[in-house]
Amino acid sequence: MSSLHIYNSLTRQKELFVPISAPYVGLYVCGPTVYSDVHLGNVRTFSSFDMIYRYLVFSGYKVRYVRNITDAGHLTNERGEGVNRMESQAKLESLEPMEIVQKYTVGFRDICNLFHLKPPTIEPTATGHILEQIEMIETLIHNGFAYEINGSVYFDVKAFNAKHTYGELSGRNIDELIAGYRDLDGQDEKRNSIDFALWKAASPAHIMQWKSPWGMGFPGWHLECSAMSTKYLGKQFDIHGGGMDLKFPHHECEIAQNVGSCGMAPVRYWMHTNMLNFNGQKMSKSLGNSILPIELITGNHALLDKAYSPMSVKFLFLQSHYSSELDINIKGLQDAEKGLKKLMDARANALLVKGQSMVETEIDKSIVALAALCKANMDDDFNTAKTIATLFEMATIVNSLKDGNIKDDQVSPSSIGMLQQTFETYLIDVFGLSPLTENQDEKLDDVLQILIQIRKEAKVKKDFATSDRIRNELLEKGIQLKDEKDGNVSWSL
Ligand code: AMP
Ligand code: ZN
Repeated sequence: MSSLHIYNSLTRQKELFVPISAPYVGLYVCGPTVYSDVHLGNVRTFSSFDMIYRYLVFSGYKVRYVRNITDAGHLTNERGEGVNRMESQAKLESLEPMEIVQKYTVGFRDICNLFHLKPPTIEPTATGHILEQIEMIETLIHNGFAYEINGSVYFDVKAFNAKHTYGELSGRNIDELIAGYRDLDGQDEKRNSIDFALWKAASPAHIMQWKSPWGMGFPGWHLECSAMSTKYLGKQFDIHGGGMDLKFPHHECEIAQNVGSCGMAPVRYWMHTNMLNFNGQKMSKSLGNSILPIELITGNHALLDKAYSPMSVKFLFLQSHYSSELDINIKGLQDAEKGLKKLMDARANALLVKGQSMVETEIDKSIVALAALCKANMDDDFNTAKTIATLFEMATIVNSLKDGNIKDDQVSPSSIGMLQQTFETYLIDVFGLSPLTENQDEKLDDVLQILIQIRKEAKVKKDFATSDRIRNELLEKGIQLKDEKDGNVSWSL
């Protein structure tokens, strides 16, 4: 049985992870709203869930990982007012709303590739699931938890709360919420200011709209996640995740919609990742303090002293627990870059060192204990920070072996295998880091200089078969070697 424990935001405690039907695990993560470029804050959240997904797979689970694309009906105000973000961005960029959706969906996937984030197993879009959303609204109306007015449909929070509980996840009380909203709202067609939109009637000018039993309109944002998680993972599934800022109202409303339509709490373990801050403030597009991935890799941002690889920033993320706030600054990035290099070097060196002992030694015992500790750390609510600290301890052993401070006969071959395997498992498979921390062009140049040198030596020995072969085979790959007048050789793509 697995010993994985997860901090459940709903019960506010760490619990043993027991899937509904092991080895299958259903994981739903709220995806991006595709009306602008994702920033590093968004990347932190998606990286955290990538690590969680990878660790579940590593632990032997068969995971159905659903992450949606919000491409419709996300209003600037979560209570169902304001403007549709896709439409306003479309006007700004003189594009069709669906061109905005396509542009930023492709951009998001490029960023995921750049940061080595695995694609979800299902990536459904809100616009592709209008029928499912309409059906859920009809059920909610039928069950007495939603009402139609002027072509819009709202969730009736008070009616729901009379039979179930609203506010459990975020620990909010509905009377306080109503009191808080009253001042802000003014006149409203809703029965109560706390009610939220399931469907909004659209004016003829509104571009993104669909036919429904209540007239032309578009769905509320919270509804899509309820409809799509139910469709692909069932009425009850294992893990639902998202950034901390989505806990209220988004996830609270999701729970109410699911309970109201399916009669049961949808999620066994709610997981919330914490925010990436910049100068102590949540990084966000609207606050104007966001760093885009392109700014990171070009170094073209006021915060940055130079370009950083996506792997360095990912390592920075992993050095803190997913549920802790993290402030991004140059010192942190510099340290992360150095730390990642140190571990990647240890991983490479672990392949070069040897063990000769035929009996178990003290060093063997430490290696076995450290490998077990990596797993224990990860099983303790995915504690990547502690796992990295443990990998640094293993790196120290590798360096001592390399420098001769630990001799070959003080360690057995199987422990060397364990060192190699542990680096591979955590750095590559679970954390999704890449050994290529340096500029890829520099690496290519390094490799070509080796080939150029071998070709030179072949020529000196009059081994023209080898020298020609190097030139011709590189040419077939689109790389041209040029013999310069001064005897040097240059290359071009
Ligand atoms: P959005 O596209 O705004 O819905 O955000 C996509 C995901 O990024 C959500 O899960 C948010 O909670 C998360 N997110 C937004 N800002 C930050 C931030 N500064 N740090 C970490 N996660 C964030
Ligand atoms: Zn969602």
